[in-house]
Amino acid sequence: MLQPVRDAELAFHDLSAQETHAMKIGFIGLGNMGGPMAQNLAKAGHDVTGFDTQTVTLDGVATAASATEAARDADVVITMLPNGEILKSVAAEVIPAMKAGAVFLDCSTVDVDSARAVAADAAAAGLLPLDAPVSGGTGGAQAGTLTFMVGGDAAGFETAKPLFDIMGSKSVHCGASGNGQAAKICNNMILGVTMIATCEAFALADKLGLDRQAMFDVVSTSSGQSWSMNTYCPAPGIGPKSPADNDYKPGFAADLMLKDLRLARAAAEGADADTPMGQAAMALYARFVEEEDGAGRDFSAMLPRFEARGRG
Ligand code: NAD
Repeated sequence: MLQPVRDAELAFHDLSAQETHAMKIGFIGLGNMGGPMAQNLAKAGHDVTGFDTQTVTLDGVATAASATEAARDADVVITMLPNGEILKSVAAEVIPAMKAGAVFLDCSTVDVDSARAVAADAAAAGLLPLDAPVSGGTGGAQAGTLTFMVGGDAAGFETAKPLFDIMGSKSVHCGASGNGQAAKICNNMILGVTMIATCEAFALADKLGLDRQAMFDVVSTSSGQSWSMNTYCPAPGIGPKSPADNDYKPGFAADLMLKDLRLARAAAEGADADTPMGQAAMALYARFVEEEDGAGRDFSAMLPRFEARGRG
């Protein structure tokens, strides 16, 4: 029996105006994103049991000995895992242990094919599958201000909506299974392309003798504006505070941007879509991360990369 709960004293995300129902939640993958998401659910009064292959202890979250144990009897099982292969192996393990009618909610960023394959297996087992990747990064996970892009049945979306409202500030139902991942990789392909364009334009402006503040003041209010320029400016000391002001510590790591651009390329190949700018961005981030000094740096560290280069 689900009990109404009310908690006006949330440290991470204040739900004081909102009443929700306590659910039994299994949370698998308690890393940089999953850990704070699980904690926000627990702080809101949900009964959360977590599992991770690493030893992770979180206040308010019970620890299970296996993914299956975390999933058993849960109303909702949430996964927040590194990639599609790991998601498929965890799903194969937990789906048979879940109770009929429960929601299998994957928040990882994975390829569209893996998301659709897992959703088909979950639906065949009588579960409600949702793919719901997020944007907002670790700061958004901690603050409970993530955006969820959700693919799957409307019924599953309605069940999970109160959880999205705790972990995030926005959730968009994008249609059938896999469409959440489709929205995520299309968004991040635009982000990768605009970040590179912003960085190369700053480096060009430097060489033309244009002051960076003047460049920002013009572009951020002109047709070259984008989230990469206006909100996450890659030039230190310019615009709102961003990882550029913290020696390019992520933030959103270049490695993760490369992962997402590779997912976009795989999706484009599968769907026979022509994405030349996405491909170019992927190739640049691959060089940056694998051959230069981009690994472990924020994805906006493309600016010092361009700054240090000439045309050769
Ligand atoms: P992370 O590496 O910090 O966390 C992943 C966790 O999964 C780790 O703790 C790992 O031990 C655990 N894990 C791996 N295999 C497992 C298994 N078989 N069973 C249980 N646990 C297992 O990564 P993260 O930054 O939390 O990212 C998680 C997902 O969110 C990724 O798909 C990533 O692309 C996506 N994402 C990350 C960000 C970000 O800024 N970090 C932003 C948006 C989306």
